[in-house]
Amino acid sequence: MSLKEKYPISLYNTLSGQREKFEPLNADSVGMYVCGPTVYSDVHLGNVRTFMSFDIVYRYLMYVGYKVRYVRNITDVGHLVDDADEGEDKIAKKARIEKLEPMELVKKYTSGFHKVLDDFNVLPVSIEPCATGHIVEQIDMVKELIENGWAYEVNGSVYFDVAKYDKSHSYGRLSKRKIEELMESGRTLDSQDEKKNKIDFAIWKKASPSHIMRWNSPWGEGFPGWHLECTVMSTKYLGESFDIHGGGMDLVFPHHECEIAQSVGATGKDPVKYWMHANMLTVNGQKMSKSLGNSFLPEELFAGDHELLDRGFGPMVVRFFMLQSHYSSTLDFSNEALIAAEKGYKRLMEGFKISKNLEYTKGQVNNDLEASVNQMIDSLFANMGDDFNTAKTLAVLFEITTLMNNIKAGNNKTGELSKETFELLIQHYQGFILDVLGLREETESNNDLTNGVIEMLIQVRMDAKAAKNYALSDKIRDDLKALGVTLKDGKEGTEFSID
Ligand code: AMP
Ligand code: ZN
Repeated sequence: MSLKEKYPISLYNTLSGQREKFEPLNADSVGMYVCGPTVYSDVHLGNVRTFMSFDIVYRYLMYVGYKVRYVRNITDVGHLVDDADEGEDKIAKKARIEKLEPMELVKKYTSGFHKVLDDFNVLPVSIEPCATGHIVEQIDMVKELIENGWAYEVNGSVYFDVAKYDKSHSYGRLSKRKIEELMESGRTLDSQDEKKNKIDFAIWKKASPSHIMRWNSPWGEGFPGWHLECTVMSTKYLGESFDIHGGGMDLVFPHHECEIAQSVGATGKDPVKYWMHANMLTVNGQKMSKSLGNSFLPEELFAGDHELLDRGFGPMVVRFFMLQSHYSSTLDFSNEALIAAEKGYKRLMEGFKISKNLEYTKGQVNNDLEASVNQMIDSLFANMGDDFNTAKTLAVLFEITTLMNNIKAGNNKTGELSKETFELLIQHYQGFILDVLGLREETESNNDLTNGVIEMLIQVRMDAKAAKNYALSDKIRDDLKALGVTLKDGKEGTEFSID
């Protein structure tokens, strides 16, 4: 029996509002789409939490044997300031401020996003499409929606007719909102004079003369709506119906609600079987967000360069900190919580180190221990299968860590387990730490070594200078620079910084 058959998964589906057994549309493979970042600024830790939550889902599905196609987009056009239907594009606005071409800005922040995910050991996805690369497909879908009677054109912009759609398909199914209430409470400012109803949303917008990101379309020069891009890219790479769609909870309405309406309107099919939403990272109970000014950048965290932090914390400590809570709960960020997480992370990794050096020596099998270890292995899977409960999974990993410490201290012997159980235990203990939870050893000793080698090269460079061998001293400085190490000569000697 394969792992995925032996250990079923259940998950909370925002659409049904219930816990459901996970049964993908195709037995062995899973299609998963997660809304990616709008690349107009550095990603903060809140964003990281959401991408890490879905990294865990991705990792676990693969661990139990699914073939997963994971699509996460890059939003590089159409996301307007304030998530509105009117106004400046977030990318274009920032490009103007930074005096860059929009695509230069996109490249800069996409690279930064990748670097951050890599620091946190978030795996690369299978496909990472960007909205500007799919303008043709977006225009096609707008045409389809008009042809199917769900969208209308006014003055070069095209809007989705929510009220009409609602009559037969009930808009608001995902977010559990009623159209009457939305009609009452919706924004009144956005393109109000063009829309039939204020809850209609733009799927194509006419570009004003100052709008620099613009494309030709049957309705004149314009640009696609933010909600449309995700529908187009998920459909293109995963099909009209696929298994999992994820994102932060703040995207349920209107973004995901609109995605459902667009898909149903274009293809006649419900696009997603399981909608999953990750909860927010908060600071003093308030959502971490760039606009609220309470966001942390990863490098501020690593360097301890923030008023709420006493010192820096490595990315694996932060990853561990995030894994201690369930993805659907809010998680509050604090210096104290990170200190506690650091202790836990170190204790776990010490157990991991012991496990790497253990050898099996045949002995008298202890049936109680054998049974309890088998139960622990089952619990690892049961807890991850329980809506990806990383907190409960960590608790089991700590039980195994205690056993590792006992073996090291001589209180238990490897031979008290059958060889088969021992091997399974080591395989899954290490597998859950590295492959499922994505923790890796944070190697302070490596940093010490690197620093030591750089100090040594600085000394060699000083000796070279003293011997007037400037060719060598310059070469050391330039070669280090190429590796990202900058030397700065001062009165007190030479200091270095690593990019
Ligand atoms: P954005 O680039 O603003 O579209 O955000 C990218 C992703 O990060 C979205 O899925 C958001 O829901 C998510 N996100 C934004 N702020 C937070 C937060 N404080 N905690 C968790 N996720 C967040
Ligand atoms: Zn999206």
